[in-house]
Amino acid sequence: MVHFVGAGPGAEDLITVRGARLLQQADVVIYAGSLVNPGLLKGTKAGCKIFDSAKMTLEEVLQKICRAEAAGLMTVRLHTGDPCLYGAIREQMDALEAKKIAYEVCPGVSSFCGAAASLKMEYTLPDISQSVVLTRMEGRTKVPDRERIRSFAAHQATMVIFLSAGLLKSLEKELLAGGYDRSTPAAIVYKATWPEEKLCRCTVGGLAATGEREGIGKTALIIVGDGVAQKDYARSKLYDPGFETGFRKVCPKSTP
Ligand code: SAH
Repeated sequence: MVHFVGAGPGAEDLITVRGARLLQQADVVIYAGSLVNPGLLKGTKAGCKIFDSAKMTLEEVLQKICRAEAAGLMTVRLHTGDPCLYGAIREQMDALEAKKIAYEVCPGVSSFCGAAASLKMEYTLPDISQSVVLTRMEGRTKVPDRERIRSFAAHQATMVIFLSAGLLKSLEKELLAGGYDRSTPAAIVYKATWPEEKLCRCTVGGLAATGEREGIGKTALIIVGDGVAQKDYARSKLYDPGFETGFRKVCPKSTP
């Protein structure tokens, strides 16, 4: 059996209870060494074989998994954050299906959630934005034309940009070309929830200069939108005394 497990954003105790249990039980762990906190491997059992996939190809990863399967061993494939985002798990799952190897996926806390927690931020503020765009700049992996940053920028929704910390100059240009004002609040979150985390609040017009000043070129998320300021929002309807829900009736006395 193979388990794809989300390791969480960085801090060792931000893996799920299920993920930690699977790690304890694993005979083989293949982890994404570039981004997964190696501290998570402390909980593995004696004799567990550990491989860093940062130095391996897909074929080599699959070979390790197949060997473990043939020997009746349990493998954990440990991915950073949640495996559903930029995790390259589909190609692994398809290969396992072709070989009739059973697998399951255990979710994790994505770095975009870790970054919001570190910034003490709610992405979906009433009257500001009710949507979050998770996207990236084009790198070696192509981004479809219809998903350019500048077209998403037209929505002015909260945007969280992955895999783009090394492209801050062009990201800034794209955001401005898409209609964000230079003064729109933004943040660069480096290694959210790791001990060396850095939170840099800035504006869209200051993204590149901030990244350069702070020496940030990788492992960061860029968060953009009026929501980053966490101001001028409307209070929630859900907890409004004058608003009835299936769980709570309006009580005239509690209306201020
Ligand atoms: N599956 C992961 C994303 C993998 S792609 C997730 O759910 O978070 C790798 C990119 O994620 C990095 O380039 C960076 O943009 C972002 N990232 C991963 N961990 C991060 C962290 N702790 N802090 C900030 N960004 C992080």
